[in-house]
Amino acid sequence: MQPRDLSDHVAYEAGRGIEEVARELGRNPSEFVKLASNENPHGPSPAATEAIRETAASVNGYPKAAHADLTEAIADQWGLVDAQIWLANGGDGAIDYLHRATVEPGEDVLVPDPGFAYYGMSARFHHGGVTEYTISRADGFAQTAETVLEHYDGERIVWLTSPHNPTGSTIALDDIEHVAAETGEDTLVVVDEAYGEFADRDSAVSLLEGRNGFDARDDVAVLRTFSKAYGLAGVRLGYAIVPEAWSEAYTRVNTPFAASELACRAGLAALEDDDHVNRTVETARESRAAMRDHLETHVWESEGNFVLAAVGDASAVAEETQARGVIVRDCSSFGLPGCVRVTCGTEAETERAIETLNAVLVDLDVQPAEVTEP
Ligand SMILES: *Cc1c(COP(=O)(O)O)cnc(C)c1O
Repeated sequence: MQPRDLSDHVAYEAGRGIEEVARELGRNPSEFVKLASNENPHGPSPAATEAIRETAASVNGYPKAAHADLTEAIADQWGLVDAQIWLANGGDGAIDYLHRATVEPGEDVLVPDPGFAYYGMSARFHHGGVTEYTISRADGFAQTAETVLEHYDGERIVWLTSPHNPTGSTIALDDIEHVAAETGEDTLVVVDEAYGEFADRDSAVSLLEGRNGFDARDDVAVLRTFSKAYGLAGVRLGYAIVPEAWSEAYTRVNTPFAASELACRAGLAALEDDDHVNRTVETARESRAAMRDHLETHVWESEGNFVLAAVGDASAVAEETQARGVIVRDCSSFGLPGCVRVTCGTEAETERAIETLNAVLVDLDVQPAEVTEP
């Protein structure tokens, strides 16, 4: 007995953790700072921590009321009806739900290259195929309707990431509308806004709801997560926002109780804590500006809580930076072997990352790269 043929499936490579790296190098975890997974440097909202503590004694029950309360709170925040909010086990869980709700065996989804690996992995779990559009370094990683439509060939879902991981670039709402208008009736355009809070832009929810001068559409969905700006990556909580006409499908595709009682209670508390989110966003803005100003290599403009830096041999640079105590993300697994991604840390962490990376670039004799900005 064997699993099914998984040779097309790519194993997910997560950013490396402090414990893992320290053990491997035989060092003390306290010597390291991790800027490899776009986590919140301020931790979770204290209100969320408190909610988790208070909920601990009642986790013998299935999450029903908490799920309903959180769905309603999120719907209120966006001015939507509850059924448009599909809570899930992280944004990744919401990616699964959207594939379950759309992809028939053998249908394809169109994903960005470079891009977030889980879109393709999830599509394959659901017996779909994967095609790619290129976000190209030669264009400064600009995202336009044309970059997507050029490669579109009737796929069931078009995945857009804005801000984009790992480049930090965004796509304008006009371009998203253009993609939705130019793609077929059976194509859903999903805008992954995992980093939406960090960008100075309107959400693509405007396109679903016909706000801000757009006509309402039933072929656009939006993905959000509590993992980044809310600092709740460890509890696994995210959601899809779907057109009203789709709402009924949720009960048919969701994994029962996948958003846990602890996650829902933490999410409810975090939603109320605007100060924590605002502080997080402010820290990210300052950190990415500092890295753009002070890293002695090209750093692309980013609207996320991370920046992409050109470093020549990313695997060598990431390894050496890590040996000096700063864990950054080698972007080879994203299809960008010449770049590392550095998460925005606190002011002190950012300073240390800049000093360490600059020293590594000198010591490894990395030559300035050819770069273009849009
Ligand atoms: C982090 C991330 C997600 C979602 O992550 P979860 O932890 O599963 O919520 C989705 N898309 C992108 C591009 C991300 O970087």
